[in-house]
Amino acid sequence: VYFDELDIADEVLDALDDMGFEKCTPIQAQAIPPSIEGRDILAVAQTGTGKTAAFLLPVLTDICDNPPTKVTTIVLTPTRELAMQIDRQLEGFSFHMNASSIPVYGGRDGHSMAQEQKALKTGAPIVVATPGRLMAHLDMGYTDLSEVRHLVLDEADRMLDMGFVNDMVKIIDMLPKEKLQILFFSATMPNKIRKFSREILKDPVEISI
Ligand code: AMP
Repeated sequence: VYFDELDIADEVLDALDDMGFEKCTPIQAQAIPPSIEGRDILAVAQTGTGKTAAFLLPVLTDICDNPPTKVTTIVLTPTRELAMQIDRQLEGFSFHMNASSIPVYGGRDGHSMAQEQKALKTGAPIVVATPGRLMAHLDMGYTDLSEVRHLVLDEADRMLDMGFVNDMVKIIDMLPKEKLQILFFSATMPNKIRKFSREILKDPVEISI
């Protein structure tokens, strides 16, 4: 499947063209069409499969089609390193559009709590965050979540293993229920992950590669 056969926004297709991406990986071919239609996704996919593009391209397509004024998308990932990788890919895919992201994962060479706070108050379409760090900001109450319509859980199994389950549940409870799409990605699918996914997903499309 070629990217230009899918309903991906033209601005995003231009960026894929610049980056030399032509054909979808299997996870992308299976996850992108139902994600663009607004379905919840439950995907088992490891790093290196192209899973990041599988969740970013549908989200960016929606942001092109419905230009936001506030945060529309929260991407949760277990570590700062993974968050930085997601941000890097996001920069490439959004080169021809206005879809800045707010990095909420701290770090010594990175940004301070205060810088993150300022960015969250201003707002941007996408927040890429580690769960504990995002929860620390949300507890302080200055983040407008009223337009959030996509939540991505990247490496959900690792986030559970790292003890982020309470933060994840609290974050989900703070998001608008009716229009929330959840894109759930995990490298493995043991029972506790499946159970957690059942609690939060609505009639998901299940994908395993
Ligand atoms: P990921 O599994 O998301 O960490 O992606 C692994 C690497 O593959 C990243 O460096 C991507 O930029 C690259 N990649 C993802 N999808 C494609 C594709 N369809 N064509 C070529 N490279 C890709």
